[in-house]
Amino acid sequence: MIIRKSPSEIEIMREAGRVTARALRLVGEAAKVGISTAELDAIAEQVIRDAGAAPAFKGYHGFPATICASLNNEVVHGIPVWARRLKDGDILSVDVGAIVDGYYGDSAMTFAVGTVSVDARRLLDVTMQSLQSGISKCVEGMRLYDVSHAVQTVAEGAGFSVVRDYVGHGIGRAMHEEPQVPNFGQAGKGPTLKEGMVLAIEPMINAGGHAVRSLDDGWTVVTDDGSLSAHFEHTVAVGLDGPTILTLE
Ligand code: MG
Ligand code: MG
Repeated sequence: MIIRKSPSEIEIMREAGRVTARALRLVGEAAKVGISTAELDAIAEQVIRDAGAAPAFKGYHGFPATICASLNNEVVHGIPVWARRLKDGDILSVDVGAIVDGYYGDSAMTFAVGTVSVDARRLLDVTMQSLQSGISKCVEGMRLYDVSHAVQTVAEGAGFSVVRDYVGHGIGRAMHEEPQVPNFGQAGKGPTLKEGMVLAIEPMINAGGHAVRSLDDGWTVVTDDGSLSAHFEHTVAVGLDGPTILTLE
């Protein structure tokens, strides 16, 4: 069942989203050559706790940190490490969530560290555009896979591939609610979107093939062919007249 949220619930989710967005922005500002991914994690946790919120990922199925920090060919779920320092030309995907009054915010962004290759820059731009295209479909009366199809069309139109094994999700009083939100699908299919549904839309786009695999740490997901991967995510409320992005400051 897809749980619809009342306007007052969405207001709380907007606050969770605001805290999430602030943490992501400050991590992005700190993501310079030489800083370690665990230092970035500490920044995110401080921002979230200073706001009186709680990190959504820490302890989730045993995940040890506040952010997922996934570098270059890592797709999602990378674990922050003190000894792992950013290098010029890296791309770093950061995924973060916060809980306010029992409601979740969830957002991700891939940052360019120093000067990145033209190909990497294009992957980031296209992945961001694919997210925006998906968000634009979050209007009452559209179908769920209109969102999926919009993401897929932008990503594949640019020659990139869409990760199949991980998807977006409904979000609310749990981080992962129904429905699953794949980043590929047939337009005009799937459940009809209604006002008050809240979706975490999160394209994971690979420069090479779509296949991914997990590392032995049990968390980190990497591209099977070693190609670069990018990840952008917003928590979005479906509205009568248009979408409302909740993970903005
Ligand atoms: Mg996320
Ligand atoms: Mg998510």
